[in-house]
Amino acid sequence: MLYLQKQIDDAYEYARQWLGQGAPASYIPELSKANPNHLSVCITDLTGHTLASGDSDVRFTIQSIAKVIILITAIAQRGYDAVFSKVGMEPTGDPFNSIIRLETMRNRRPLNPMINAGAISVTACIPGGSPEERFGYILENARLLTGDGALDYDRKVYQSESRTGDTNRAMAYMMRSSGVIEGNVEEHLDTYFKACSILASCRQISRIAAVLANNGVCPDTGRQLVDPLSVKVVRSLMCTCGMYDESGRYAIHVGVPSKSGVGGGILGVVPGRMGIGVFCPALDEKGNSLCGIKAMEYLSEKLELSIF
Ligand code: GLU
Repeated sequence: MLYLQKQIDDAYEYARQWLGQGAPASYIPELSKANPNHLSVCITDLTGHTLASGDSDVRFTIQSIAKVIILITAIAQRGYDAVFSKVGMEPTGDPFNSIIRLETMRNRRPLNPMINAGAISVTACIPGGSPEERFGYILENARLLTGDGALDYDRKVYQSESRTGDTNRAMAYMMRSSGVIEGNVEEHLDTYFKACSILASCRQISRIAAVLANNGVCPDTGRQLVDPLSVKVVRSLMCTCGMYDESGRYAIHVGVPSKSGVGGGILGVVPGRMGIGVFCPALDEKGNSLCGIKAMEYLSEKLELSIF
């Protein structure tokens, strides 16, 4: 334990050297207010014990990390086949918000659930009579995975994205026009924007990751929270598509199935070993937390975490 705490503290100190570089996302205006000097590194082991360094209890919006929870929720409710009839499994090499492939791919399905178009399509698969009900399923899973029954979403960030998210809106309407999604587009977007605005701390991100590292079983309660097939699917997709168009380089340098979000969080799953959360809102040009990646590189090397 002491050895692991030292490695986490060292990863924090190592990553700190890059504070001041990069910048918080600004295309969602509210996110630009984030403190770029917040930094945290957390690990939850498979007994449910969390070790932390830095600003581990500061809450931030999980943004694209929600794509993992959305996918888990949709597969649990609709099944694997129904979900993957609406979204593919292939990496894109394009930025997370790219629209171009929606027009050029033959069947018009978004390429994978880790890009915006894919996550919106998966969100539209979640059944429910109202957007509140559909978001309720996602939030409930986020609460189960973190073990925090009071987890909630950030109203200001949600409203900010809802006001300005026209690229996502364009993608969603395009997908409806080609028959990939059905129903009320604005309701699906509302659910997606709320899911992206769920607030969690770095410590909590590492707890979600630990469940996925533990084959879907909560390390604290021993309860199966995510079925093994979904665990396999999300871990694979995180590996190939989880770090936007930096996924290939990240696989070589870090080698840990991960999902980042433009709020500055990264969730890393080391199968059979641990869940990792890192957080710093200043992003690199691909949209990944700059110090977060440095911390992951450090941990991967020192703890020999690469699955490759
Ligand atoms: N809510 C953000 C969007 O859809 C999430 C993007 C991200 O974290 O990659 O643009």
